[in-house]
Amino acid sequence: MNRIDPKLAATLRQPRELIDAGLAPVDAVAELEQVAARYAVAVTPELVALIDPADPADPIARQFIPSADELVEQPGENADPIGDDARSPVGGIVHRYPDRVLFKLVHVCAVYCRFCFRREMVGPGKASALSDDAYRAGLDYIRSHPEIWEVILTGGDPLMLSPRRLAEIMADLAAIDHVKIIRIHSRVPIADPERINPEMIAALRVEGATTWIAIHAN
Ligand code: SF4
Repeated sequence: MNRIDPKLAATLRQPRELIDAGLAPVDAVAELEQVAARYAVAVTPELVALIDPADPADPIARQFIPSADELVEQPGENADPIGDDARSPVGGIVHRYPDRVLFKLVHVCAVYCRFCFRREMVGPGKASALSDDAYRAGLDYIRSHPEIWEVILTGGDPLMLSPRRLAEIMADLAAIDHVKIIRIHSRVPIADPERINPEMIAALRVEGATTWIAIHAN
């Protein structure tokens, strides 16, 4: 079956589409194409509907509409500003605090925030998800560290996973005795609320661990 997801088709990803929607100036196209080649762009219809195109300082637009300013690099800027790499014992895992880890499963998002501090890890040229081998290595790391009681699934956006895959991951994590909390950070409930359907809700409920959802909304 070759069906185009209407939500994917309606999401604005190209500078030309932003300009046609009145969300960026026509004369910015060349610079915005340079930005889009480096950092992913996606603005879902739900977010477009919240933007007032007549307001040059619209606070929703400022979060999601790319700007030529993103091409400016200041001395001292760092591609990994929060130091994930230095605290990553295996791919996809960040172990910063003794009792919890980040598990970064996917490298795609429903919407791409211009302020993202993991923007070098998502978008153009990046794999869309951890490989199976890296996923299993991450699980093994969590299994072998009994001090880890909380696993945080985070950016990219874990709710971009299919409910089927998410259910498998939740079950894998909940099967580890010392993992008691699975926390998911997501903008999907705001950016693409239709993804939060009964199948997704069912995938998030799991025996053996408590699920927390941290909804990111600015
Ligand atoms: S949804 Fe999160 S990971 Fe994705 S671009 Fe926004 S802040 Fe970054």
